[in-house]
Amino acid sequence: MVNYPGFDFEVIHRTTADSNWPNAARVSKLKTPHGIVETPAFIFCATRGVIRGVTPAQMLKEKTQIILGNTYHLMLQPGAETIDRLGGLHKMMGWDGPMFTDSGGFQIFSFGGGTASSEIKGNRNNKRPKMLLNIEESGATFRSYIDGNIHKFTPEDSIRVQRNIGADIILVLDECSPYEVGKDYTANSMQLTHRWAKRSIKEFFKSAEGSSGPQALYGIVQGGVYEDLRLESAEFTVSQPYFGYAVGGCLGSDSFELQDVISMSMRTLNKNKLVPHPIHLLGIGGIADIWDGVAKGIDTFDCVNPTRLARHGAAYLRPIFAKNNQSRDHVNLKNSCFKDDDGPLDPECKCYTCLTFSRSYLHHLIKAGEITVIQYLAIHNVAFMNRLMEKIRSAISEDNYFVARKEWFAT
Ligand SMILES: [Zn+2]
Repeated sequence: MVNYPGFDFEVIHRTTADSNWPNAARVSKLKTPHGIVETPAFIFCATRGVIRGVTPAQMLKEKTQIILGNTYHLMLQPGAETIDRLGGLHKMMGWDGPMFTDSGGFQIFSFGGGTASSEIKGNRNNKRPKMLLNIEESGATFRSYIDGNIHKFTPEDSIRVQRNIGADIILVLDECSPYEVGKDYTANSMQLTHRWAKRSIKEFFKSAEGSSGPQALYGIVQGGVYEDLRLESAEFTVSQPYFGYAVGGCLGSDSFELQDVISMSMRTLNKNKLVPHPIHLLGIGGIADIWDGVAKGIDTFDCVNPTRLARHGAAYLRPIFAKNNQSRDHVNLKNSCFKDDDGPLDPECKCYTCLTFSRSYLHHLIKAGEITVIQYLAIHNVAFMNRLMEKIRSAISEDNYFVARKEWFAT
């Protein structure tokens, strides 16, 4: 295994065997130069170099371990060189803990515009102009969403930009092929991703002058929803000198397909129990998906949902504390059923928002259009995800994972 100075990944405990369930859940310590992440963990998205609505001090107070910056957004604004000149993203944004950056590929390859996630998940219902202009062997050409300027982006560029941003964990550039392209396209795209991965690795070790430097590199398993392709991509990925692995690309159109895709990838990714590697699931943050992904051996997750939901007036709640007709993993405080509810937002949460404000007050702020409520809800959503992951870690350690999962979703 390649030596990544300052990094380590140690599995502390694995779930005991249960023939009815995948039993790959594990509690681990992911060591980075900016601190240790206890996994399974949730990674919060600081897309443009800020967690929307929450300060770094508040993130820490609510027990956040690690955050993620988006290479695509940051290289366009303020630009990689600017970030480097200002001392890196850690320094700029006042976050001294572990940090992750994606490769920029996910945003660039949002075919036809719209949101990348809807494309990847098979939703073609978007009408914004095309951002991606061309994909060729050397790289991708895309139009900036900020000023319309045309940029060429190569695997080497992605590594260089991520070096400038300075996150602890960085990713190789992959082509994210959308749901509807079919198997032939997905297979070709996967092969291109593998060739790009080799170039990324070369650039990574070159730019680190023979060692990994202060960063660790993750590879990405592609292959869409096709079992043979996922297997081939996972085999390729484990053969490369990565510190960790990510499961990416098209993850299916629903939770069932998602879990199938994870299973296909994980059979190979966590086969090597003697030298375990951290495994990240890209862009998934549904509560049930997290419980099920952890059961299959996923260590970290990232998703914009905690802060995005807050901007829409929504807060995470366990089903038992939600009101009627709020069957999803969150409730919308704008709903009139909260108008006279003077109880705490989440009775079992100890975050600043839940200890200070009532549901009726938060409802009032949303109705009044007061922007500070976005911060209050974001603080709760961050605390909720961190508490969920803490619960998951202790359930694994206590060998009662599947009982704990059932209790979490009790109504
Ligand atoms: Zn709370």
